[in-house]
Amino acid sequence: MMMQDITKNRTSERNEKQRKTAREIIEQYDGPPVRIMEVCGTHTHEIFRLGIRKLLPKQVELISGPGCPVCVTPVGFIDEAVWLALQAGVTVCTFGDLVRVPGTKMSLAGAREKGAKIQIVYSPADAEKYARLHPEEQVVFLSVGFETTTPSSCLSVKKAKEEQLENYSILTANKTMPGAYEALKGSADVFLYPGHVNAITGTALCESLTKEGVSGVVAGFTAKELLTALAVSLKRYQEGKPFFVNCYPRVVTAEGSKEAQRLVDELMESCDSEWRGLGVIPDSGMKLRKEWEMFDARVKYQIPEMEGRANPACRCGDVLQGKCKPSDCKVFGKVCTPQHPVGACMVSNEGACSAYFMYGV
Ligand code: SF4
Repeated sequence: MMMQDITKNRTSERNEKQRKTAREIIEQYDGPPVRIMEVCGTHTHEIFRLGIRKLLPKQVELISGPGCPVCVTPVGFIDEAVWLALQAGVTVCTFGDLVRVPGTKMSLAGAREKGAKIQIVYSPADAEKYARLHPEEQVVFLSVGFETTTPSSCLSVKKAKEEQLENYSILTANKTMPGAYEALKGSADVFLYPGHVNAITGTALCESLTKEGVSGVVAGFTAKELLTALAVSLKRYQEGKPFFVNCYPRVVTAEGSKEAQRLVDELMESCDSEWRGLGVIPDSGMKLRKEWEMFDARVKYQIPEMEGRANPACRCGDVLQGKCKPSDCKVFGKVCTPQHPVGACMVSNEGACSAYFMYGV
């Protein structure tokens, strides 16, 4: 057997052993009732997909949090995008999920039916490229997301400036997690922190939250990483003291990605931001700095203030704060399905309602 194969076999044996131990800790947990919040929508989906929920004893409750960028984007932002597409006549470049999120009067899909030009892209770089290849069109990229995606939006703006593109701008709804953690304090006993966000930000904030009594673990996304994070949460929770553990050390360091932090700091500054369900959280958003505002669609097109009204039947706001489960919503699975979503949490691939629907809860 080659040396490479031996090392591979040993790693997979070690992983299997670690998975088994973590699984046993979870299944045999007999401590006090505990509510663990999956802050990140990808965690919600992966935990369902891997069947981890089935292992949990009754006193362990998993609740969903606000970590799905499409879900927390407020209705007013969709209205702004629809206005840009219909009134200002720009080409709106966006990730696919956002197209079906209902606005006050219509979604972007509805706007497309009325003749608006909506272009699906996979990254801000694609949107910038589209603008470069279509100089006759005014192009706006819908920049939503957390610390993980904000750097790529900044990069696209920087590139547009280098290339002297005058037909590219971004509509920002970028958010940062610290404000959300503040707003969510007390809604769960343990936070399962999103590993990809911590890869950018580092762990200082999570560590400082333990001093305020907030416990949490940084979790990765594989079966081994999620089982380990949950097992560590349960072990430490029984000790009765606030704790923080980085269970994703292969990717997350204490200081995070300095390069990404520098880039965002160069182009953007913090601002108050509205979160669906959580309201306006001070300093929880990011917008382009004054010297970059020629790429800010709100400034460029003078978009009027949009209030944004969600369907009154929709409980996305409560779902995002862990106050209720998707299945507690009266229209879940009846009027509201992935084919006919009433709220954002049923649209997005990371949304809690779509996870509950998809996995038959
Ligand atoms: S099931 Fe639909 S309407 Fe109910 S909270 Fe979820 S997205 Fe909103």
